[in-house]
Amino acid sequence: MKKWTRDHAVNQDQLDALAPMRELFELPPGQIYLCGNSLGPLPKGAAPRLKTLLEKEWAYDLVQGWNRHDWMSLPSSTGDKIARLVGAGPGEIMVTDSTSLNLYKALYAALRLQSSRKPGARIVVTEKENFPSDLYMAGQLCRDLGCELVKASQPENLNDLLNEQASVLMLTEVNYRSARRHDMRQLTRLAHQAGALVIWDLAHSAGALPVDLKGCDADFAVGCGYKYLCGGPGAPGYIWIHPRLADHCHQPLTGWLGHARPFAFEDHYEPAAGSSRFLCGTPPVLSMAALDAGLDLILTVENFGGMAGVWQKSLALSDMFMTLIDEGPSFRNLRVETPRDPLSRGSHVSLSLQGELDGSGYALMQALIARGVVGDFRSGDSGDPGRPDLLRFGITPLYLRYVDVFDAVEQLGQVIARGEWRESRYQKKAWVT
Ligand SMILES: *Cc1c(COP(=O)(O)O)cnc(C)c1O
Repeated sequence: MKKWTRDHAVNQDQLDALAPMRELFELPPGQIYLCGNSLGPLPKGAAPRLKTLLEKEWAYDLVQGWNRHDWMSLPSSTGDKIARLVGAGPGEIMVTDSTSLNLYKALYAALRLQSSRKPGARIVVTEKENFPSDLYMAGQLCRDLGCELVKASQPENLNDLLNEQASVLMLTEVNYRSARRHDMRQLTRLAHQAGALVIWDLAHSAGALPVDLKGCDADFAVGCGYKYLCGGPGAPGYIWIHPRLADHCHQPLTGWLGHARPFAFEDHYEPAAGSSRFLCGTPPVLSMAALDAGLDLILTVENFGGMAGVWQKSLALSDMFMTLIDEGPSFRNLRVETPRDPLSRGSHVSLSLQGELDGSGYALMQALIARGVVGDFRSGDSGDPGRPDLLRFGITPLYLRYVDVFDAVEQLGQVIARGEWRESRYQKKAWVT
């Protein structure tokens, strides 16, 4: 493998077909932002969009805005934009609620469907390393419904758990810690062979890599609006239901906007056709408009090679990052925890800490942020060697340049070489990490 130099990185940027996309983001000067997997940066189109919404639509049109500006259609019109990124069709995705709530609705609906399709199967299969909120939601729902949540300790064990007891397989495609990526097509096929339904969480997939929900024949999917989709802090999440199932689904949160005729104010609840029955209450129009602006930005990649091009650049940037860590003399106490195989990883790189750096990951990240390189820290479990503390770096090719990755690793080397992480001001943990 070639040795990276800064000149080589600059050269790669000149050849990069995605380079013009960077101009579409509002990026703080002097910062290298490697946290777009946690909160995407502000699209330049978002502020004017919100300004119009606030100062013209809300201020002057008031309640008539619902019809004049079609606010009520935002869950499905914004969902149609996400559909183009994940291999779903128009009308199939609703932008609504949070990822956690959507997961709850999807799992409840799947278990209800299975109670007649595969009666007696009471197990929801997932993995120990799934995102905690997904496990909390699923765990409580299983307890309430008399089902059991079984967590595979290793992805290799999932296959064995997909047996006659398995009702639903619920997984996150790309792991939030290591970036390890499941084979969605293969696991969906194995689950279906066992008669189980499958729910995929796309929080770290959509907008980062090509996803083909229908091509993989998945049943349900949920995902997040504020990470790779750049919808802004607290942006709503989304839910997809395969059209062969949607009309048969029963979801537990029967709010009026999932009704077939919300404005008839009828006494009885009748679910709307298709995915719309997964709506619950009034859409958060301001947040949805910001997410819609984020999606408009992301969909402009269709002019620059599409998600396949984004994915190629993500792999190249991550390879560069990992190679620089492997080779740098300052990094002998850092270990790459992200899989090297391009098909087995998502779009961030995680490093664990050994030797004199062990236990200092949070402080190290704070010292790096003080130098303008923003990643984040995910604490591990001191009792579990398979779960180390991690430094996490999001690789978001729409605005990151090769030279940014090169410079970020340089800065990391200096923080370590100079022992800056030992300073007391970097030791105190904030509420959000
Ligand atoms: C970020 C993330 C969520 C977030 O859930 P919210 O309900 O939006 O807070 C859920 N699942 C996964 C896998 C995530 O990465």
